[in-house]
Amino acid sequence: MKYDCIVIGGGVVGAAVLDRLAAYNLKVLLLEKEDDVASFTTRANSGIVHAGYDCEPGTLKARFNVRGNELIWRDARELNVPHLKCGSIVVARKEQLEKLRELQDRAVVNGVETRILDRDQTLKIEPNVADEIEYSLYAPSAGIVSPYQLAIAYADRAILKGGEILLEAEVKAVSRKNGTYFVETSKGVFESAIVVNCAGAYGARVNDMAGAEHFETVYRRGDYFVLDNTERKNVNTVIFPLPTAAGKGILVAPTADGNVIYGPTAVDSANPDDTATTPDSLDVLRKNVPLSYKRPAFNKCIRVYGGLRTLIGHDFVVGESKVLDNFFMAIGICSPGLTSAPAIAEYIEALIVERTKATVKQSGIVAPPRRKRLAEISEDELDALIAKDSAWGRIVCRCEKVTEAEIVEAIYSPLPATTVDAVKRRTRAGMGRCQGGFCGPKVMEIIARELGIPLDQVRKGGGATIARYAVKEVE
Ligand SMILES: Cc1cc2nc3c(=O)[nH]c(=O)nc-3n(C[C@H](O)[C@H](O)[C@H](O)COP(=O)(O)OP(=O)(O)OC[C@H]3O[C@@H](n4cnc5c(N)ncnc54)[C@H](O)[C@@H]3O)c2cc1C
Repeated sequence: MKYDCIVIGGGVVGAAVLDRLAAYNLKVLLLEKEDDVASFTTRANSGIVHAGYDCEPGTLKARFNVRGNELIWRDARELNVPHLKCGSIVVARKEQLEKLRELQDRAVVNGVETRILDRDQTLKIEPNVADEIEYSLYAPSAGIVSPYQLAIAYADRAILKGGEILLEAEVKAVSRKNGTYFVETSKGVFESAIVVNCAGAYGARVNDMAGAEHFETVYRRGDYFVLDNTERKNVNTVIFPLPTAAGKGILVAPTADGNVIYGPTAVDSANPDDTATTPDSLDVLRKNVPLSYKRPAFNKCIRVYGGLRTLIGHDFVVGESKVLDNFFMAIGICSPGLTSAPAIAEYIEALIVERTKATVKQSGIVAPPRRKRLAEISEDELDALIAKDSAWGRIVCRCEKVTEAEIVEAIYSPLPATTVDAVKRRTRAGMGRCQGGFCGPKVMEIIARELGIPLDQVRKGGGATIARYAVKEVE
């Protein structure tokens, strides 16, 4: 099959690039090795829309963070993705005031609005900072967004515009002959004039496959606690400690879906698939969270998770290869990569449009398919929905109040959700207090029914099975 452009990797960066390119008269395809988009780093991060004050001035990180912060709020609004511009604070003890001032100087160079607050002013924004905190650097443009829902929404919108996505298609080799790339995958060979490498932790490997620039990659895992949504009332904003060489430090933050997270740690790893939390790493969180936040509630933890940072040198690698024509890269996208994704996509779009002289195939943006969740709609709206479809009246996930209708919608969305985890990321069924203990089997039954497959063939996602075999027939 021949394409004008193939994007490798369906994290938030690849999905945003596809969304942009699908607006043009270009035949575009995204290849993703997992069974859903947003299955790796984009699934497991802090979900913070960073303001951009702490990036080293002059770097791609600074440039794309600041521009991404402008674009991401618009995208989240248009795509109906959960988000909140709640601001952030970097908290400091008395003796750390000078460090806050240095951070503010950086903010000025990067063009980011910040204010230094004293303790009383800080408490007005965040009453639960630790007693030792005397100052904070407040950034009103920061906030939170659902990272996986953003990537899924970009993917869905790209498909509605005519882009294509092939899942479980791992790129294994990339070669070039007479100006055409041959991208060999586990699902066949695809030809393209242009390749965009957005392969995240495997970005440097894809470069090596194609014969583009070779980069050394460093991985750094970050572990988190997720707190029950009863903790949400105690956290108004994103609370950071002062950043260090290892990163932005261990934060306390609300999530766009109404939980609270503590994390991440920074644990060096040699494994590009390393997302397993460890007791030692979680202990680091137990020790550090109380330094900035006075109401840690580790007993309200409903889950722990780990995400993997991919670092190539000290900056993002974004642009065209210098050794391969028409081979573009957006790799080494560590933090603030989520915030930067829309700006990186905008930049790659401009390069490819300039190269291909492609014209826009439609002016208006196609409406996103994501409907409001049950928890977000009024009783009148719900009555109207139930009148049309009784599945809106059947709650499947009690913790997160997700109806059968929402699960069926996810299964039939532009990029269909065919696994329990894919349904979870789109609807939140299984993300609440019981972590799918109650709704998991019910979600499996709905997937089996809608896909017309036996229950024991329903997959959890990410290569994991749930049911090994059927012990009895289910009606
Ligand atoms: C602990 C942690 C906290 C973070 N917090 C924040 C934050 O609060 N705010 C922020 O802005 N940023 C944050 N980030 C950074 C952000 O999460 C990442 O920059 C972003 O998710 C990277 O997206 P990506 O698309 O480049 O990579 P990924 O999401 O990893 O996507 C790459 C995709 O490529 C696929 N792939 C790989 N190899 C192949 C192949 N051979 N064939 C086909 N597909 C392939 C993978 O399966 C994967 O789906 C954080 C990162 C971490 C690890």
